Amino acid sequence: MTPDFDICIIGAGVIGLALARQLSRRYSVLILEQADLIGSETSSRNSEVIHAGLYYPPGSLKETLCLRGRALTYQFCQQFDIPHQKIGKLIVSPTNDHPELQRLEHTAQRLAIPLQRLDRHQLHQMEPDVTAAAALWSPETGIIDSHRFMQALQHQAEQAGALLVCRSQMTSAHNHGDAWTVTINTSDGPTTIHCQTLINAAGLEAVALMATIDAGTNTADTNSDARLHNGSQTAERNNTPPVLFPARGHYFSYQGKSPFRHLVYPLPEPGLAGLGVHATLDLAGQLRFGPDVEYLDPQAASSPERYHVSEHLRRPFAAAIRRYWPALDENQLQAAYAGIRPKLSAPGNTAADFVFQRSGPATSPAWHLLGIESPGLTSALAIAEHVEQLLETR
Ligand SMILES: Cc1cc2nc3c(=O)[nH]c(=O)nc-3n(C[C@H](O)[C@H](O)[C@H](O)COP(=O)(O)OP(=O)(O)OC[C@H]3O[C@@H](n4cnc5c(N)ncnc54)[C@H](O)[C@@H]3O)c2cc1C
Repeated sequence: MTPDFDICIIGAGVIGLALARQLSRRYSVLILEQADLIGSETSSRNSEVIHAGLYYPPGSLKETLCLRGRALTYQFCQQFDIPHQKIGKLIVSPTNDHPELQRLEHTAQRLAIPLQRLDRHQLHQMEPDVTAAAALWSPETGIIDSHRFMQALQHQAEQAGALLVCRSQMTSAHNHGDAWTVTINTSDGPTTIHCQTLINAAGLEAVALMATIDAGTNTADTNSDARLHNGSQTAERNNTPPVLFPARGHYFSYQGKSPFRHLVYPLPEPGLAGLGVHATLDLAGQLRFGPDVEYLDPQAASSPERYHVSEHLRRPFAAAIRRYWPALDENQLQAAYAGIRPKLSAPGNTAADFVFQRSGPATSPAWHLLGIESPGLTSALAIAEHVEQLLETR
């Protein structure tokens, strides 16, 4: 069978688009997106922060791809005029001997990430409204216009010949040994295309889609050599899809002038479930707070109400914010938006690493990108490079 495309990418979030840009230089690429617009799920429902790379387990994919991704993202923003600002971040601590402060300092030293310890007085000079005993100043952290970033990725992919089709949902895929037949639901009814390699970058739906794709694969041909990195451990696993633990994060915007000039983060939550309810600014200077962490059952994560932000959250948000900004006027907080993390770790467990898992025969593989939660936006360009290497070396 002669494939119509070398590669079919499922999902036009920031990851699918970065992959399309990277891979369209050497391959013919089709990108399928089920929504009306690119980037309308997790990629437009986040903090838009370019992370420095301080938080992740040593040697993890999150750590290496965040570091490489940060450098590539700043370079890309400068080269292609994407609105961004290296605004810097303060990580604030209620005590000056909190073990997390030292842990972050060691990580910064190990990775040569600039990080400076501030005492109460120095912190006051930088952010007079913030109350904390000590802080860490991370000048490498920045903010980015994620929409302009994704539009630029789409534009460059299309210029290199990639074809993006929205309102096109992949519903099944069947492997024939040397190619895949992919069935797509479009507004004009179902259609099929043939491709050699499938890349599942479906975000929250990637785990379910992996099971769908594997159902269309002759298991005798399946090579289950995927590796799951979890912290410093690397475990071989078979190609059973992992379990998804969707975790919603809500945001409240602040109505009024921001008292902050930098991003303000509390110390990260245990197990890195989230980074704590932090203060971020967008490029227009609008202040917002979030995200918290609320685990959802899979049905709730796919319901039409999945991005609802309840006004009942105002109280717990105000309490979290007052730990570092006691003067907050709670009435200025307004429910804004929510995003859902495609977590692969159960509540209470240490956050799982990004997973790049292969199934299908070596001649026509399917690659599944699973658990691409934060720092996925920062890492997108590095993930694209990494997947290209996987395609070439396996
Ligand atoms: C609350 C929150 C805050 C975050 N903050 C940051 C941050 O500040 N910095 C950072 O670096 N990262 C952050 N992240 C992580 C980052 O947003 C994600 O890692 C990234 O957006 C994931 O992109 P994606 O392309 O994998 O997923 P998505 O953006 O969800 O894209 C997947 C796409 O696949 C499509 N799709 C699904 N199934 C099908 C199908 N069958 N057929 C066709 N299309 C399909 C979907 O419609 C969707 O558009 C945050 C995440 C969350 C939830």
